[in-house]
Amino acid sequence: EGAVLGNLFFEPSTRTRVSFGAAFCRLGGAVCDTTGFTFSSMAKGESIADTSRVVSGYVDAIVVRHPDQGSVAEFARHTHLPVINGGDGTGEHPTQALLDLYTIRREFARLGKGVDGARVAMVGDLRHGRTVHSLIRLLSLYKGMRFQLVAPRSLEMPPALVEAALAAGHEVEQVTSLADSLRGADVLYATRIQKERMSGESMEAYPADFRIDRRALAALCRPDTVVMHPLPRDGTPGANDLSTDLDGDPRLAIFRQTDNGIPVRMAVFPVLLGVDHLVGRDLRDAPWIAPGRLGPGDAPFHRID
Ligand code: ASP
Repeated sequence: EGAVLGNLFFEPSTRTRVSFGAAFCRLGGAVCDTTGFTFSSMAKGESIADTSRVVSGYVDAIVVRHPDQGSVAEFARHTHLPVINGGDGTGEHPTQALLDLYTIRREFARLGKGVDGARVAMVGDLRHGRTVHSLIRLLSLYKGMRFQLVAPRSLEMPPALVEAALAAGHEVEQVTSLADSLRGADVLYATRIQKERMSGESMEAYPADFRIDRRALAALCRPDTVVMHPLPRDGTPGANDLSTDLDGDPRLAIFRQTDNGIPVRMAVFPVLLGVDHLVGRDLRDAPWIAPGRLGPGDAPFHRID
């Protein structure tokens, strides 16, 4: 209570920005936001170093999203406040990976499975998609993972991340087509083609058979495969992203995944600010009426605790 968060987003965001802000507010803090370069002094040529030091005088913790890989680490080098990476270009998105793992653990708990030895298929733009970069590293902390990496040839997972997973003793299968690859997956993690990161590269090469819809799920997945996506899913014609015809299928965990962003991000701040031991003491029930189910398509087992 009383702490202020600087929520600095120099790249488009809905989920990450709003959920970091909401998580901090739910803990009793206040949030100062910036959105986009245009409305910040970076548009006037200010360096990351100066911005970092200036904002540090205003707030107690900082979340940064920036289009350049490594930029958030650079931001952190110029302050002694906690800096959370909200996505650095094609680099990493660590809190997304934490909420993805939390989702996998919750879904698996319901299904009576554990994470060790799970078969996790990551599908789509694995080259530019920072969420899968962080997720493969985080899941590699478990034992005996079986990763299926499904991407067209130009959009494959960076070799360093594949090598790290192999070196940690996990199975990694890399394929360029969706068909035949997913059978047996415990988790299907789909990603959006990151058009904004492809200057001059041809996207026409992205084949339609990467579309994950009801038909693909029936052909390729198990009755208990957990289907995830960091969102947003690209709904523009020809995008071949995760299809809306799956909405209502209880395997589709995407909104359970987004809802999980709040408790996970609420957990991150008290740890970084050294007050996690106070959270339990200060919890209180909300006096207002909240709906038991948030969306009309939510699965009956989807509860907000
Ligand atoms: N929202 C995620 C990210 O910021 C995934 C995406 O944009 O496709 O990385």
